[in-house]
Amino acid sequence: MSFSALNLDANILRAIADAGYTEPTPIQVQAIPQILVGHDLIGIAQTGTGKTAAFTLPLLTKLAATPAQRHGTRVLVLAPTRELVVQIEENIRAYGKYLPFKMATVFGGVGENAQIKALQSGLEIIVATPGRLLDLMGRRYSDFTGLQYLVLDEADRMLDMGFLPSIRQIVRSLPKQRQTLLFSATLSREIEGLTHEFQHAPKLVQIGRRSNPAETVTQWAYEVPRSRKVALLAHLLEDPNMNMVLVFVRMKHSADRLARQLESHGVTCATLHSNRSQNQRLRALRDFKSGVVRVLVATDIAARGIDVDGISHVVNFDFPMHSEDYVHRIGRTGRAQAIGDAISFVTPEDHGELRSLERFIGRGLVRKHAEGFDYTDRPEVRSGPPQQERGRGQQQHSRPAQPQQRQQKPPHRPQRAQNAQRSQHPLHRADSWQSGFAPEPGSPGSSQRPRSGNRPGGNVPGGPRPGGRPFRRSWGR
Ligand code: AMP
Repeated sequence: MSFSALNLDANILRAIADAGYTEPTPIQVQAIPQILVGHDLIGIAQTGTGKTAAFTLPLLTKLAATPAQRHGTRVLVLAPTRELVVQIEENIRAYGKYLPFKMATVFGGVGENAQIKALQSGLEIIVATPGRLLDLMGRRYSDFTGLQYLVLDEADRMLDMGFLPSIRQIVRSLPKQRQTLLFSATLSREIEGLTHEFQHAPKLVQIGRRSNPAETVTQWAYEVPRSRKVALLAHLLEDPNMNMVLVFVRMKHSADRLARQLESHGVTCATLHSNRSQNQRLRALRDFKSGVVRVLVATDIAARGIDVDGISHVVNFDFPMHSEDYVHRIGRTGRAQAIGDAISFVTPEDHGELRSLERFIGRGLVRKHAEGFDYTDRPEVRSGPPQQERGRGQQQHSRPAQPQQRQQKPPHRPQRAQNAQRSQHPLHRADSWQSGFAPEPGSPGSSQRPRSGNRPGGNVPGGPRPGGRPFRRSWGR
């Protein structure tokens, strides 16, 4: 199918062509017509499927088709993190570059004056995190009386982050007559509750399943003693194919320490975690996207929803505590069907979690062994002053990783009461489920693409940057 068959505004088609998109992704094929005719929509799709364009393109088309009747915001997009807000804004600006609408972003951690001004001037589109928006709404800076379209993006993440009370308050003050679109990677009871609460007779489109990592991502596990993880990562990074590498750690202090250690090996790094200011985070993302730094070391929360095309490798330096986090982490590569590698370091302490993960994703991770690397465990240094960082190019030997601290599980959320209209809801009517493009992995291990040699990223087309983005497969199946 081509974009031109989707009844999108001609200016948007021009912008899509500029972006180099040749055909709509499966979620776009399914969602765009439903949104254009005015249905509320539940989109179950992981990030990387093209879901932002799936709601942005039809909403911009609708804005262009019907000029505003009154002053005030017409579209409100709520998203869980500042990074995601900025990325959605970038997407909307790209797709709407030939249209005259005005837009602002609202999120915490930065000064509020510009945001207040933007809200007061009644911009057509606001993309916001719930906390700051609610704060400014409480002080009557916003005008949502003419709001027509509400988007709840990454709704599951917003619930995980405890935004439900803020979202409820925000939605309560919006006009009841509106079109509401909800996107989530999961279809849980909580999400179902949200759809009952905020939507009217929604249609459901579902792309893939939460427990399926992208099929274009090859997953490897390296069994390594904890004391050798930094050295192993530095060793793997000698491969120039690892040109855009997102490294996950569990704790923010480990992110800074690992970045320093990698830099001492001559690897350019930036970090993304919650102790960094908004400007530092944006700069880190910018430097990573543009290739100024090769490695971005991030914690799970800070990296949620980050939209960076062309990540060649995701490295689970610290094995994820929860299998869902693994799927989210490795979803950062293989975006938009690009090919990517996910590498997990597995220490003896991680074996239990590795087994749960393999059950969760329904396949075993292929074990790899780095050629020429000395895996001999080094004794842990448990007391005394911190060691000096080694100089550039020096061998990484005795400094062990610090003992890992465990993250707390998020508190259990009580199940919400069922809505009386339950039987009307698409989630309970098998016939209203969209047929869906569901990239189920065929059999366990079916998506593994064996590669020759021992290099972790031996066949990432596009080669090291500059050289551009990795090869993109067709969306068609
Ligand atoms: P998202 O799921 O919205 O985070 O999208 C992931 C990435 O897919 C975006 O950064 C876009 O660059 C890209 N993308 C979205 N739609 C298309 C398309 N139809 N063709 C190619 N790339 C796309």
